[in-house]
Amino acid sequence: MEDTIHVSVRPLVEYAFRSGSIDQRFRTTTTLTEGTRLHQMVQKTYGERDQKEVPFDTMINYEQMTFHIEGRCDGLLMNGNHYMIDEIKSTSLPLSEVNEQTHPVYWAQAKCYGYMAVEKYNLDQITIQLTYIQSESNDIIRFQQNQTASDLREFMVHMIETYAPFAKWKQKHIAMRNESCKTLSFPFDTYREGQRKLAGTVYKTVQEEATLFAMAPTGIGKTISTLFPVIKAMGEGFGKKIFYLTAKTITRETAQEAFHLMEKTGLQASCVTITARDKICFKEKTICQKEYCEFADGYYDRVNEGMLDLLINETLITRSVIEQYAIKHQLCPFELSLDLSYTADAVICDYNYLFDPRVSLKRLIEEQKKQTTVLVDEAHNLVDRAREMYSAELTKSPFLNLKRAYKNHHNGISGAAAELNRTFLDYRKSTQNGSLVLSEVDEELIVQLDTFVQESEKVLLQQGNDELLLETYFLAQNFIRIAKLYDERFITYIEAGKSEVKIKLFCFDPSKLLQKMRKGFRANVFFSATFTPFSYYQNMLGWKVEDYAVRIPSPFPREHAEVYIAPLSTKYRDRERTLPSLVSLLENVVKANPGNHLFFFPSYGYMEEVYGAYTASVQTETIIQKSGMTEQEREDFLNKFSSDRKTSLVGFAVVGGVFSEGIDLKGERLTGVAVVGVGLPNFDTEHQLMKTYFDQGGRNGFEYTYVYPGMNRVQQAGGRLIRTESDHGLLLLVDNRYLEKRYQQLLPYEWQHYKVLTEPSKFLL
Ligand code: SF4
Repeated sequence: MEDTIHVSVRPLVEYAFRSGSIDQRFRTTTTLTEGTRLHQMVQKTYGERDQKEVPFDTMINYEQMTFHIEGRCDGLLMNGNHYMIDEIKSTSLPLSEVNEQTHPVYWAQAKCYGYMAVEKYNLDQITIQLTYIQSESNDIIRFQQNQTASDLREFMVHMIETYAPFAKWKQKHIAMRNESCKTLSFPFDTYREGQRKLAGTVYKTVQEEATLFAMAPTGIGKTISTLFPVIKAMGEGFGKKIFYLTAKTITRETAQEAFHLMEKTGLQASCVTITARDKICFKEKTICQKEYCEFADGYYDRVNEGMLDLLINETLITRSVIEQYAIKHQLCPFELSLDLSYTADAVICDYNYLFDPRVSLKRLIEEQKKQTTVLVDEAHNLVDRAREMYSAELTKSPFLNLKRAYKNHHNGISGAAAELNRTFLDYRKSTQNGSLVLSEVDEELIVQLDTFVQESEKVLLQQGNDELLLETYFLAQNFIRIAKLYDERFITYIEAGKSEVKIKLFCFDPSKLLQKMRKGFRANVFFSATFTPFSYYQNMLGWKVEDYAVRIPSPFPREHAEVYIAPLSTKYRDRERTLPSLVSLLENVVKANPGNHLFFFPSYGYMEEVYGAYTASVQTETIIQKSGMTEQEREDFLNKFSSDRKTSLVGFAVVGGVFSEGIDLKGERLTGVAVVGVGLPNFDTEHQLMKTYFDQGGRNGFEYTYVYPGMNRVQQAGGRLIRTESDHGLLLLVDNRYLEKRYQQLLPYEWQHYKVLTEPSKFLL
């Protein structure tokens, strides 16, 4: 076990001095760049003998431990022979609301530097100064304290005393973790075909601090084949932390199971799962203020004790474990999971905690990122998710309503909202047939939004309970944030109706932004069973020439799936005509292959139409997907697919929906799958704009917008059939387009032995 504990000043003081309650009331913050600019502004006023950005470090022995503390103070100022530490803080609060007692953590930080300076220069005393600079006015207010060397020494010992129990646990835990990672063996007797190759490539990626794109089919055991090598690499000193990102709750559970499995074979690492705030919140409404929520009240006074209790006793920190300790220590479960994510060895969470500029884990410092490997599960989903994260939209009506609501109360807001309302009206005039596409951001609009944001902040800081103002403020702020990212990968779309005008900044190609977000992490692994065509996903997810790529073949004999193509047209205009043949085909499939079937359709409307016709003429038991099903309803739907049923069951579902990806109905639970149509997304304005965008960029817009995403959904839905080595079943692809080259070349190798049904409606084996 290493004897010395290395810790930076900031996490040390934050740990020892945080106190009080969670307060999600409206608060403005300065951005990192803005903060740096303000810091530099103060530092420029320093005298000749003053120094800025001064590195300090010190060693303190406490009990049997040695603490090596490091940090960099903003300023070391000289007044004759007298030294002064200057700690600069930028604030968006009016300076009248800042006093000497406002931020104990800041004082603690400055005192740490004071102690280190006293030690280094052998001083008896030193002055500590906090300099606050207001972000808008650039006004400055300063507070000073004189500290003797012995006071500072006492302060440091007290701080170390508070931190020591956590440090002790951490030191012991890391030693155990590293040893267990080193000696851990693969949690199965043998590697499945392809599994060793995937695991080996992931290990090399982490070792070489690279990025990997891996196409790994169902059955390969993707989760364990990616997690295990990262753990092994950690044992060898390549990285200290893992982020396992998923798009769905169900895949989060699979990752937890993989940790559980490794734990049973000796792994001692902590793994926390983050559940969305709305889902895990204990209260009826998520009003995170001490007056409403007892779990917010005094949260920071209790969190250290709660966290330590949990970390000492648990390693697999699932939602229920978090809930249990949150109740025991009266802590907000969501904040607790976030706090734990900075300490845990592995974090399982949604993509947005790392990729979305609105919610990303802000406290994940560069140093931690450098030691972190990011695993992105089912990364084909990230294309659409990233498009959502990096796009922004505004409408006219909230501004009109705010203009009216604040007319006699606050001229700043009503004026800014009126101006924006006018801009929207001007947009309406410039549209042709109600729409307009631009390839740039309207700078004037951004200036107006900036003014609106500033005016809103003045009101929201006093009374943050105007929901419309708050909501519009956040939308405007997000719009400004996205506008800063705008480049040739975006378009601006304006749509005007009779009473509403909408402006949207569309990010159609998120590749560059994803590249930016992944930067700074030790290694990144994007993997999916359905990266087809590979080049499309590489293009969209930000592939770089130096990145690695690997494709693993399916470990299952392809004969286990009998694949049929029924060349019936499912195009919108033909659906009525082909409906009787389709119903007859689906009926015969179940007759020929009794058991449990899932039939997938391109839309709810089409599914319901076929369902109606099917149930009117066929006796087989059926179940149908509803839009917006609760978790319980989904579970009930899947539980119907039991392996010991006496009669057949047919489930009607939509491609791209909750049952077409991430679910495992093994063995007899599912013996047949039919995918009706080629899965194309809707031909709506957004998709049409995207098509034009890619066409104009020299890529095939139809394929990029419709065919590739559509066939991805088909592959995912069809992929529900064979989940294990012993699974057998029948896969039916219904559409005459499956015989066109464009679609056929996207069929996976495992389906290419298909047979074509010349008379689909008479299908019988
Ligand atoms: S329990 Fe709910 S309301 Fe309370 S702080 Fe947590 S998220 Fe907010």
